[in-house]
Amino acid sequence: MQTDVVIVGGGPAGAASALFLHKQGIKSIIVEKEAFPRYHIGESLTTRAGNLLRELGFEAEMLEWEHPRKVGVKVYGPEGKNSFYVPVMGRDDNGELYDTYTWQVRRADFDNMLMEKARECGVEVIDGRALRPIQDGDKVVGVEVQLDDGETVEIASKVLIDASGQSTFLAGAGLTSPKDRDRYDNQVAIFSQVRNTRRDIDNRDDTLIFYQKMFHWAWFIPLDDDVVSVGVTVPTEYFQSQDESPEAFLLRELGELNSELDIRVPDRTFLEPVRAASNYSYHIEQFAGDGWLCVGDSHRFIDPIFSFGVTFAIAEAKKAANAIAAYLSEDNQGDVASLLAYQEDAESGQDVIQALIDAFWNHPFAFAFFAHSRYVEDFVDMFAGRIYMDEPSRGLQAIHTINEQHPGKIAGQLA
Ligand SMILES: Cc1cc2nc3c(=O)[nH]c(=O)nc-3n(C[C@H](O)[C@H](O)[C@H](O)COP(=O)(O)OP(=O)(O)OC[C@H]3O[C@@H](n4cnc5c(N)ncnc54)[C@H](O)[C@@H]3O)c2cc1C
Repeated sequence: MQTDVVIVGGGPAGAASALFLHKQGIKSIIVEKEAFPRYHIGESLTTRAGNLLRELGFEAEMLEWEHPRKVGVKVYGPEGKNSFYVPVMGRDDNGELYDTYTWQVRRADFDNMLMEKARECGVEVIDGRALRPIQDGDKVVGVEVQLDDGETVEIASKVLIDASGQSTFLAGAGLTSPKDRDRYDNQVAIFSQVRNTRRDIDNRDDTLIFYQKMFHWAWFIPLDDDVVSVGVTVPTEYFQSQDESPEAFLLRELGELNSELDIRVPDRTFLEPVRAASNYSYHIEQFAGDGWLCVGDSHRFIDPIFSFGVTFAIAEAKKAANAIAAYLSEDNQGDVASLLAYQEDAESGQDVIQALIDAFWNHPFAFAFFAHSRYVEDFVDMFAGRIYMDEPSRGLQAIHTINEQHPGKIAGQLA
């Protein structure tokens, strides 16, 4: 088999990469090891993710699915006090803010929708597991794949995209720089779905975040008129010290974590098996090279409190497609500069969110003041995913200043 671009993984990063490459007239093959639709956590989208979906032509389909519309994020402080709200807003060509909405999605349906669209665009989807990249010296020239029936095949490619999510395929193969533990790696998330909840103001379908103390928080994300995704994220040590099953832990935390959460989830009958994701924060510094690059979770995963994972996946997919188009262009002569420029650009956006989250954990009162009063528009922009900046906004500068002056703690230091 032979193609321009082979993509390992068909989640949002992989499928969106295939769709943006298709727009550039570049052929791709996706290799996906799981049968879709498949369960995945990560259900709340940002303004940027919504707009990228519109750009890919999904608006009508998203409306047809009747995914809940998200018009903001509300963060409740301890005991439900000191809450702050960040609305979902776009910016028009004149730089003016306008009200808009994005969506909350069931990832099984959402990821399948992206994958089906890729197939419709002529992208071949191979059911199998990528085993190892094939190299010619330092250059990646394809991938070896084990098909579902056990047979092994080689796919020759000009570029390989690693979109394997937390499996970090190319890091596992030793092609990237090492996978470092990141700031919030000693965390565990325990989650499920409930019904008969009390939504927020006017029954809106916004994301609610409930803060208890540092690194101890919960989410509430409506998935339809009835069902809501709920999850609790805590330091792993705390979870272990409770000596409870994940079900018992989630049940108790939903009642105790924050009085506002307790009110919103009176019926704690879980509709889904209670699942856990642990130790999930990491960072790879070098994730592009001759004939390859990584998109989405395959190179970095940041504390998911402000719902940026799918945004990174789709935004980086677009940037990667542009970089690959330049790399494959006739006058390029095998120069990897565009792939390395992609790496820098992708990293800059992730750094903004890392700084935002560091400030939230270490300086929650200053953060709420900045978001609510001091730098409202800059915070609206960052929460919307307008994070690839030529110059840091004043709000971002203020975040860097408090982070530098008072670095605070990181999750692993809590104990
Ligand atoms: C607790 C928690 C809450 C979160 N909440 C949110 C949220 O509210 N909003 C948000 O945007 N994000 C959220 N996220 C993050 C989000 O889940 C991810 O960032 C997002 O799924 C990344 O997309 P991806 O395409 O990079 O990876 P994935 O969606 O994980 O897709 C990777 C795909 O690659 C396939 N694959 C892996 N290895 C191979 C291989 N060797 N061969 C073939 N296929 C392979 C996998 O089967 C998978 O389908 C959350 C994450 C966690 C842990």
